[in-house]
Amino acid sequence: MLTDSHCHLASRQFPAEEIPDLVRRASEANISRMVTLATCLEDCPNNLALTEAHPEIFCAIGIHPTDVCETPDDYMTQLQLHAQHPRCVAIGETGLDYYHPAPDGWTEEAYNQRQQDFLRQHFELACKLGKNVVIHTRDRSGTASFDDALAIYSEFSDRAQAVFHCFLGPQENMHKVLDLGGLVSFTAISTFKSAKDCRESAIAAPAGSFMLETDAPYLAPAPHRGKRCEPGHTRLTADFIADARGESLEQLAKHTESAVCSFFKLPPL
Ligand SMILES: [Zn+2]
Repeated sequence: MLTDSHCHLASRQFPAEEIPDLVRRASEANISRMVTLATCLEDCPNNLALTEAHPEIFCAIGIHPTDVCETPDDYMTQLQLHAQHPRCVAIGETGLDYYHPAPDGWTEEAYNQRQQDFLRQHFELACKLGKNVVIHTRDRSGTASFDDALAIYSEFSDRAQAVFHCFLGPQENMHKVLDLGGLVSFTAISTFKSAKDCRESAIAAPAGSFMLETDAPYLAPAPHRGKRCEPGHTRLTADFIADARGESLEQLAKHTESAVCSFFKLPPL
């Protein structure tokens, strides 16, 4: 019934032998489809292998902004080969992360610049392959990574769509994304008491403008907080957001799934 639009099933936290159980638990919670995202080159074949073994799993191919320094300059040839796999439904996880400090030997400026270059290159690949882009942004304070990513998206928004994943608000920034034709997606953070801007955005988001995700193995919702998160937990976020919006789970699923199908170019569940 629902899709976990963003998780990392090739993470070391999910041993391969556990994946069938994890898919079964998800399906018991009515999460019948999941999109697993690669974060570095080595991660791509592992994610693709999961899609080949499980009809419920699709993947996105990209280099996470915190992995750009370990990635060789000529990464794009390899990335494109992976992204052409028929089960790859988007380009990502890419984006801008100004939260984590620059790695040893890099200035903040050079690190941020390399992330911006990679983000543009990911958009170029997406346009070339007719796919959309999954964007991560994170700041220590303020919204510089969001602002910069939005500016880069605006260079490509007539040719590709972007989802700003794990969107935290405020609403004003959500509207900037939607105005460019993009989407946002909400994790279990929307259920946390402290995340007022995030929750208000999830309530105000027009039907069809957002998707649901876990970002598993990170960001487990209550009552699993602090533990490993898994795709089945999408259900807790869905129940919470449906309730906050005054919708039934079926009503919520109808428009979040239509956003999923159009963004990832997937058939309805
Ligand atoms: Zn992620």
